[in-house]
Amino acid sequence: MNKANYISVILPLKLEWEPCYRLPEGDSCCVTIGDRVKVRFANRSYSGVVSAIGIEPKTSVSRIKEIDCLEEGLEKILPEEIELWRKVAEYYLCTIGEVYKAAYPASRINLEEAHAAAIAKSNLRRERLLEAMRCKVKKLKERLDKKEALISESKEGTKAKVRYTEEAVRIRKELATAASALSVAETKAATGQTQHLQMQGHSADRIVLNEAQQESYGKIEDAFRHEKPILLHGVTGSGKTEIYIKAALSVLEKGKNVLYLVPEIALSRQLKERLYEHFNERLLVFHSAETPASRRNTAESIRNGKGYIVLGTRSALFLPHHDLGLIIVDEEHDNSYKQDSPAPRYNGRDTALMLSVIHRCNIILGSATPSLEEIYNCQCGKHVLIRLMERYHGSEDSDIEIIDTKAEKRKRGMIGNFSRKLISRIQCVLDEGGQVMILRSRRSWAPALQCEECGEIPKCPHCNVSMSLHKGGAERMVCHYCGFSIYANGHCGKCGGPLKSLGAGTQKIEEEAAALFPHARIARLDGDNAQSNGYESCIIREFGKGNIDILIGTQMLAKGFDFSNLRLVAVIAADTLLGMQDFRADEKAVQILEQFRGRCGRRDRKGRIVIQTSQPEHPVYQRFAEGNTGTFSSALLLERKDFNFPPFTRIIEIAVRDRSEERACREAAALAGILGSKFEITGPYPPAVDKVADQFIRIIRINMRKDKTLASGKSAIKELTAVFEKERKYDGHITINVDPS
Ligand code: ADP
Ligand code: ZN
Repeated sequence: MNKANYISVILPLKLEWEPCYRLPEGDSCCVTIGDRVKVRFANRSYSGVVSAIGIEPKTSVSRIKEIDCLEEGLEKILPEEIELWRKVAEYYLCTIGEVYKAAYPASRINLEEAHAAAIAKSNLRRERLLEAMRCKVKKLKERLDKKEALISESKEGTKAKVRYTEEAVRIRKELATAASALSVAETKAATGQTQHLQMQGHSADRIVLNEAQQESYGKIEDAFRHEKPILLHGVTGSGKTEIYIKAALSVLEKGKNVLYLVPEIALSRQLKERLYEHFNERLLVFHSAETPASRRNTAESIRNGKGYIVLGTRSALFLPHHDLGLIIVDEEHDNSYKQDSPAPRYNGRDTALMLSVIHRCNIILGSATPSLEEIYNCQCGKHVLIRLMERYHGSEDSDIEIIDTKAEKRKRGMIGNFSRKLISRIQCVLDEGGQVMILRSRRSWAPALQCEECGEIPKCPHCNVSMSLHKGGAERMVCHYCGFSIYANGHCGKCGGPLKSLGAGTQKIEEEAAALFPHARIARLDGDNAQSNGYESCIIREFGKGNIDILIGTQMLAKGFDFSNLRLVAVIAADTLLGMQDFRADEKAVQILEQFRGRCGRRDRKGRIVIQTSQPEHPVYQRFAEGNTGTFSSALLLERKDFNFPPFTRIIEIAVRDRSEERACREAAALAGILGSKFEITGPYPPAVDKVADQFIRIIRINMRKDKTLASGKSAIKELTAVFEKERKYDGHITINVDPS
């Protein structure tokens, strides 16, 4: 046996080990770590990544398969990429294969192949690569045909039929991307040229900071010298973005690269124009709404380029970064950084910190409302806190007004969902030519319906949650969890009585506003209409230009937008911000209010934020009104410490899902028994919505102390769970979520 011929390979699967393969005789010298190889595993073909060479095979040599071939068309993976995958898998208790799959999804691999074929210098090589792609399409077609035959042969309603149908859907998807990649490759093969980055842009001197900003910038440079991560806590409008730009420009001048992360795509669209002015062609944008072809081009530019800045969402962490000089994590407190499903269930902010350690590069986390996790990190001295508490345009903090809707109702001071006080505030602003934003945290016309006769609340047949009523065109009842929807005929499905709406969503608020302010130009922005890429940016642009007087929407309005003529922000039925059964609820509520407060009165004029609530005495509003969110954070931190919650501990949440409720309970209880003998657990308990898409859910929560035993404790949880799954042959889903949001 020649040990040099044995390699281990990372496969895009939930596999606890990296399987061993043999290289063909004579090939060992030309394969290196990071190369991609085609291998067969459980009768299917995969593109894997070579993770080690010259290993000692653990099983009998005769059982080890040879690789099919070296994937010449696919890019080599950098050692830093593999290192990040390992860290993410270890921290978030998933497998490295799952991280690889997230970093290099099938669509990306197909395009990599297409690209390689397009730029292949020799005709022979190009033909070979094209042939491989044709072969892949052909095989997928055959597999699909087989599945379809199986589907038509199997009986309606059987488990087998469901499984075949699910598999067919997956294969069809794979086939679609492979076929489109092939057609791209075939048409491009004649002309194909790679684009390289053009290195033009401005110098850091172009940004002139004011005194307060200059002082912060000096502290940042100082912390950089000590290689410490920075938390930049700056009020909205203080110029954090300006500071990021300056820091980024100076990194690019040194020929290094920058990664600029934002929590959501909407924000990247806003920033793109602003950053382009400074970085020109050196700015690359990367997020899941870009076309796969454009994402691949970005990945390619990064691989070959120097002096670039990537603006992206969390998936941009998995690009082939090299020579990183700086990572910026904007709005670090934002929950959208966390991916809840599928694995890896990672937090973009914390993964960015891992990436900065791997590349030994600087990192700035910025926010107007820092997370308690970050405040804690600064208190422990792990990170450096730099504060910027002055607005650049010098405007003062907005006034805060809290309106008690219960009291108003008693005085007949409410018209629908608007109090008379709020109506007059809005009218005043409109009369002066100012703009208004109205937040209502629920999309839809009505979040729920109820039968006036029998009291029945229509629920989704697949989820344990009430259906929302949506208007606009035909009226439909929609489930916000699984997307199921039916035509709403206004009658109870049980007794036929009339349905009335419970509560008001953004659509109804829009309707009421239109009646109250007939001369105002009103628009709405929420998850329903923002899906189309063009619509959201169009609304934001029109509002920015002053062509809309009142903008109504969900939390998405709070994200970093800058409108100079916005004078009033109103939060309607603010109680829903507090309603969450979650230890982070208060922290999140204060963050949202603070973000909105930052939106208004940004220039020379003082703005106002009006909160309509039925719990005016709630500490969240009280502290917020006192304007002292700093002391509020300290109070929250103390509370977290007393109750042993993060950031003082780590939470690991294990969810058991099953189509049968009885089985979900039984299996969760059995697993809890095993984990409970070693760890401090809560549950199993049903979450607030305990059935989603026909799966019943039970949660087990583990609170772990942050000490030397943490790492070994975490891997024990993973191991015990895996053994449990295997021994029971349990085919429900068990998922582990570290640091759930
Ligand atoms: P933040 O990111 O903290 O919300 P921004 O960087 O967006 O703040 O700054 C708010 C506004 O002030 C922006 O319109 C920005 O152009 C302007 N601004 C801030 N700092 C400067 C500066 N040093 N020079 C010119 N304009 C600035
Ligand atoms: Zn549903």
